[in-house]
Amino acid sequence: MKFEGSTNVRSERFGAGSIEGLGDELGNFIVTTMPVPWQVARPRMGGTPTAVVMVESMEVDVLDRQLAELPACDTFVGIGGGQAIDMAKYFAWKRGARLVSIPTVLSVDAFVTPAAGVRRNHIVEYLGITSPDPLVIDYELLRTAPADLNIAGVGDLLSIHTATYDWCLAEQAGHSEFPFARRDVDAARAILADTIAQANEIRRCTDAGLQAIVDGYMRINTLCLPAGHYRVEEGSEHYLFYELEERLKRPFIHGHIVGLGVYLLSRLQENEPDMVTSFMHQVGLKFQPAEMAIRRDDLLESLSSLLEYVGSRPHLWYTVINERKIDREWGEAAIAELKF
Ligand SMILES: [Zn+2]
Repeated sequence: MKFEGSTNVRSERFGAGSIEGLGDELGNFIVTTMPVPWQVARPRMGGTPTAVVMVESMEVDVLDRQLAELPACDTFVGIGGGQAIDMAKYFAWKRGARLVSIPTVLSVDAFVTPAAGVRRNHIVEYLGITSPDPLVIDYELLRTAPADLNIAGVGDLLSIHTATYDWCLAEQAGHSEFPFARRDVDAARAILADTIAQANEIRRCTDAGLQAIVDGYMRINTLCLPAGHYRVEEGSEHYLFYELEERLKRPFIHGHIVGLGVYLLSRLQENEPDMVTSFMHQVGLKFQPAEMAIRRDDLLESLSSLLEYVGSRPHLWYTVINERKIDREWGEAAIAELKF
């Protein structure tokens, strides 16, 4: 699909089998990857990389050490999920080299965001600006990943539902942190509507379904990059996830936990919870606490601590959490139909 506005993607190579022969076209290139995606991609892309470097850790110290040991090259090719792509972005940015991004799963949007997500003493930092040239979306390659991980890619599109509502609430309450843009809210909701329309394709990970997720991410970027913030797709549903991650001290598959956040916060907003829930069922998104090993009491505690949690973090935006009280009774009712 053609986009209005620009994304950070310099060129695109989309289609089943689009990775074929790419290695022979690249000249002097270094691959950043992990064992499984490399095993799948290597015979398909051909060519001989100057070096292949595996993700050990996303800590900046480790990345800098790995980069210092690498020979000169023209291009860094990131092949894999978010970490392998972010590693290529970081290296390409540090060396001023060309970047080629080849996601092998759509569970996170690292392949369309300009900055590399790295860690410094376990805290996430976003560094640099990069543009894939090209971004390679090969449906056959993506289908080698577990279907539920590709489906998890809808999480950050689904979050438009609750995040735009939060932004409107903030505007009405006079707490808008950014210049409010009704046009961006409407455009983001159109992206969500188009995603929902593709639910059956996404569920089956067809070419159209996978492309719908990629298109959604790229369209979000046409809104968020010029605006300089991600308000249209990040709100209270993400805050519940941040709280749970800190509380339980373990990572989650992003789209799954965001899905749980959308389920609960759309209920607090009284914002078409049944519509989004039926989409999550239709698409096969794994948002149930049982599927993430979240216990009932932990979720109830997390919900009743949310206001205090956001209150002690001034960088978090105004959302429904600031406006509607979450007590135990509300929490019990909201989770009544979830599976633990
Ligand atoms: Zn997100």
